[in-house]
Amino acid sequence: MQTKYVVVLGSLLSGLGKGILTASMGKILSFYGHKVLPVKFDGYLNYDCGTMNPFRHGEVFVLDDKSEVDMDFGTYERFLNIEMDSMSSITGGKLFSDIIAKERKGDFLGTDVQIVPHLTSYILEKINAIAKAKQPEIMLIEVGGTVGDIENSYFIEAMRQLSNTEKVVFVTITYVPELESVGEQKTKPTQIALRQLMQVGVMPDFIVSRSSKPLSENAKSKLALYSSLPESNIIDDHDSDNIYKLPLHLMEQGFGKMLAEKLDVSSTPDKKAIRDWLSTVDGKRNRRVRISIVGKYVALKDAYASLKEAFSHAGMANHANVELKWVESENLENKKASDIAAALKDSDGILVPGGFGKRGIEGMINAIEYARNNKIPFLGICLGMQLMAVEYARNVCMLKGANSTEFDKSARYKIIDLMEDQKHIKYKGGTMRLGSWPLKIKKGTLTYEAYGKQLVNERHRHRFEFNNRYRAIMEKRGLVISGTTPDNMLVENIEWKGSFGIGTQAHPELKSRPQSPAPLFVSFIGSAIKYGGIRH
Ligand code: GLN
Repeated sequence: MQTKYVVVLGSLLSGLGKGILTASMGKILSFYGHKVLPVKFDGYLNYDCGTMNPFRHGEVFVLDDKSEVDMDFGTYERFLNIEMDSMSSITGGKLFSDIIAKERKGDFLGTDVQIVPHLTSYILEKINAIAKAKQPEIMLIEVGGTVGDIENSYFIEAMRQLSNTEKVVFVTITYVPELESVGEQKTKPTQIALRQLMQVGVMPDFIVSRSSKPLSENAKSKLALYSSLPESNIIDDHDSDNIYKLPLHLMEQGFGKMLAEKLDVSSTPDKKAIRDWLSTVDGKRNRRVRISIVGKYVALKDAYASLKEAFSHAGMANHANVELKWVESENLENKKASDIAAALKDSDGILVPGGFGKRGIEGMINAIEYARNNKIPFLGICLGMQLMAVEYARNVCMLKGANSTEFDKSARYKIIDLMEDQKHIKYKGGTMRLGSWPLKIKKGTLTYEAYGKQLVNERHRHRFEFNNRYRAIMEKRGLVISGTTPDNMLVENIEWKGSFGIGTQAHPELKSRPQSPAPLFVSFIGSAIKYGGIRH
C-alpha cells in the first residue's frame, strides 16, 4: 500500500490550534475507515521536549515508550484514541545530531554536506521509514511553527520535494482577525502569508481559517480570490467551547469529503463511530462542579494541557460541567488558615498537579492540609502525591521537618528522596523515570474502586520517589498505600482514610481520552459532585 500524505502548515502566528486541526482531520479520515498516523516536526534544536520549560513551551507530554514530546501528541492521542511512539516525533535536534553522526561515520565522504539536498533527503528517508514501519494509509504531517520561520524552512522544502513523487495535500491554517472598531474580518494578513507560502513553492489545497466569529462570506471570497482556490476550499474554524466537535464542524462544510477526494481515498462515513463520538463529547451535562488547581504554572494554561482535558473527559463521564479555578500556590504561602480557607472555600475538590522546583511548594502543602482537615475530595498528581505524603508526615505522623530532598537536601525526615539509581545521574535529558509503568493496586482501596482492577499501566515523569523507610510509620498512622510497582519496591499510590484523598506518582491525565477517561479523574469528579456539586 502506498501511503498518502496531508501536510499541515501554520501561517502568521503559533497557538492557532494546528494540532487540533491535524487531529480533527485524522479523526474524520478514521470515521471514513482509514488508518491514519500523525507525525510532528518541531524545528527547535532540543533533541526532545524533556528539557524545556512548561511555562514557555507548554506541557511536556510523555508517551508509553518514554519519549518526552510536544503537547500536540496529547491532542493526537486524545482525538484518535491511539498510542503513539517517538518515531512520530521529528525534531531539528534529532535531525542535526543524526546528520552529523552520519558525516562522522563517513556516509558523505568527499561531499560538502548541505541542508539541501542532504538534510532534506534525510527527512524524506525518515518519512519513508515511518511509512514502511507503520503502514498508515494516510500520514498527517504537522509542521511546527509558521511559514517564514528559519527553523522549519528546510522541513517545508522537504515536504515540497515529497509532493514531487507522492500524493500530498497541503493544508494551511491561518488567522482572520476582526477589528472591533471596524467590525470587519480582515484578510490582509493571510494574503501576505499566502505570498510567503508561494515563495517557498507550496500552493495550499485548503485554507482553514481561525477567527473569533464564523468566517463571513466576504472574507471567504477574498481568501479564495487571493489563493486561487474555490470558495469551498476555504474552511471555517471559528472559536468554539468544545474542541472535540471540530471534526463534525469541518465535515458539515464538506471538508472531509473534499479532503478524501483530493487524497483519492473513500469517504463513506461509519455513522455509528460518528454518533458514538458525538454522544461522548457532546452529551447531557446537568451538574456543575468546581475544582481548584493549586499549582505553580497556572499563568500559562498550556502547561497543564492534559490535566484540563482529563477534567473535561471526567466531566463528560459524570454528565457534569467541570469549572476549573487556577490558584497560584505561591499566594497560599505564609498565610493564616483563614486566608487559605478564603482562597479555597468554593472548591468541591482540590488538585495539586505535577511540577518541579521549590517555588510555591509550601502553598501546595497548605492546600493539601486544608483539604484533609475539611474532608474535601483531593487528588495529588506526581508532585501532588509527594507533597500529600510530606503533609501527612508533618501533620499526622508529627515528623516535623519532613520534606522532599528536591526542596531540602538536608531535611530531617526525607519522606521523598532520590532512588540510588538516580543519585549518580549527571545528564538531565531523558533520565527521569519515564514512560509507561505497571501499577499493582490493593483491593478495597479508593484507587481499586476507581480502576476496578488490580493491574493497570500509567505514564510517569519524575526523578524523586516515596522513601520506603517511612512506609511503616506512615501506614501505622493511617496512610493507605494503595498502589505499588508489581515488585512492591516503589510506592505509586497513597490514600487518606475517611475522606476521598488519593495521590498518584503517575500522570494519569496523559492517558485520558474522551472515549477512555482516566479512572482516577472520573472517581475524583464523582466524589466532588457528591461533596458539593450543584444541580442545574
Ligand atoms: N519534581 C518531582 C520529581 O522529579 C515531581 C515531578 C512531577 O510532578 N512530574 O520527582
